[in-house]
Amino acid sequence: MTTLFRHLPSMDAVLAHLVSKKPFDSLPRPLLRQAADRFLDVVREEIRAGLVPGPEALALPALAPRLCAFAAAHTKPRFRRVLNATGVVVHTNLGRSLLADAAVTAVAEAAARYSNLEFDLATGERGSRYSHVEDLLKTLTGAEAALVVNNNAAAVLIILDTLAKGREVIVSRGQLVEIGGSFRIPEVMAKSGAILKEVGATNRTHRRDYENAITDATAALLKVHTSNFKIIGFTKEVPLKELQEIGQAHNLPVIEDLGSGNLFDFSILAMGHEPTVQRVVADGADVVSFSGDKVLGGPQAGIIVGKKHYIDRIKKNPLNRALRIDKMTLAALEATLRLYLDPALAAAKVPTLALIGQSPDTLRKKARRLAAIINKTAPQLMTATTRPGASRVGGGAFPEEDLATTLVAITPADAAVTADALRERLLGVTPPLVARIEHDTLCLDPRTLAEDELAVAAQALVQALE
Ligand SMILES: *Cc1c(COP(=O)(O)O)cnc(C)c1O
Repeated sequence: MTTLFRHLPSMDAVLAHLVSKKPFDSLPRPLLRQAADRFLDVVREEIRAGLVPGPEALALPALAPRLCAFAAAHTKPRFRRVLNATGVVVHTNLGRSLLADAAVTAVAEAAARYSNLEFDLATGERGSRYSHVEDLLKTLTGAEAALVVNNNAAAVLIILDTLAKGREVIVSRGQLVEIGGSFRIPEVMAKSGAILKEVGATNRTHRRDYENAITDATAALLKVHTSNFKIIGFTKEVPLKELQEIGQAHNLPVIEDLGSGNLFDFSILAMGHEPTVQRVVADGADVVSFSGDKVLGGPQAGIIVGKKHYIDRIKKNPLNRALRIDKMTLAALEATLRLYLDPALAAAKVPTLALIGQSPDTLRKKARRLAAIINKTAPQLMTATTRPGASRVGGGAFPEEDLATTLVAITPADAAVTADALRERLLGVTPPLVARIEHDTLCLDPRTLAEDELAVAAQALVQALE
């Protein structure tokens, strides 16, 4: 055994072999050295375990194919593309919205070239980075002014910090939501220094509850869109229009955290009712905030629109500098918002809207194509069948809305491979495939797979079952 160790190729030889090959030749050497080091450790372990038959097996040409596969697996970036076969369109864990082509192009240019980010080309002087999207946001929402920050959580924080620090904000008990990733309205409020004044009951809040709670210490009325749940049965919420009347009577701003924030009227797609930003602005909300990367389908951002005198105060808050968006976000946001100037164009070109809008018939055909590819590629490994199912919008939008789809169910030929085991194996292939399990069967929802990803998904299944 000790003699076998002497036949192991040297670190220098292993590195030289990797460096002579694509794509390793362009990788940082320390990454390759680390992979080579680990590979040699694995082989040493094999020698110790008596798994190496003789010195020939340790010659570099004999080890090379395994070495390259090992190095490829161990030098991959941590952050990488995955296939989303969950059918959840705005999947926060998988990166929420995909950007429109126009936004992708704008991001690439903003990233690679200098730009007029904070430079006014008309005067040759310093400009504002927000000016590039403020007019678009005003046009699209009907608001007097707009501002964009890092995300909607930041938007809520800076709004409360500006308008209500050290004073009370009245919120209905039914709207004290927690959304994924531990964003809780009461906690964000505490961070902003605003004091939460809860009114009403979990299921019912009345106009008089707000009116009775108003004192000299009140700074604002806050309405929070109950994004990810619905209270049904014996319920009552005070409509925004009435809140606005109360606010106006007491000279208090009405703030609405819309969460997802649609600029697109989804009732066109016969989906449940979610207010558009335009509607909320028209109904008199003084300050409205929403996410850029939920159903809007743009980059991560927190968009704030509303009355000019409030927005001007928020813009001057020093927190704004800490929460500001970067140039790539700005480029993607402007490109996305421009598409919304023509709703039909947005429906076709904003991937989030297009994925939500796929018809049941389109999805049935797509599922059949996917099943046919799988059954043709690897009939010895698995069988794919189609069945009716439901997809979700995700991102806390339309929480109770099932979107009709057709699922592709996978039955491995090896009955010992459970749906759970297959699901786990699929996370380890390239690119990883995230699927879901229904009735103990692994299912792929074609809604969130692009046409050119169907064959890639089939290959992922093959890798997982081989
Ligand atoms: C999603 C959401 C947020 C947080 O938005 P991010 O853009 O993820 O920071 C805040 N409030 C509500 C109601 C939401 O649905």
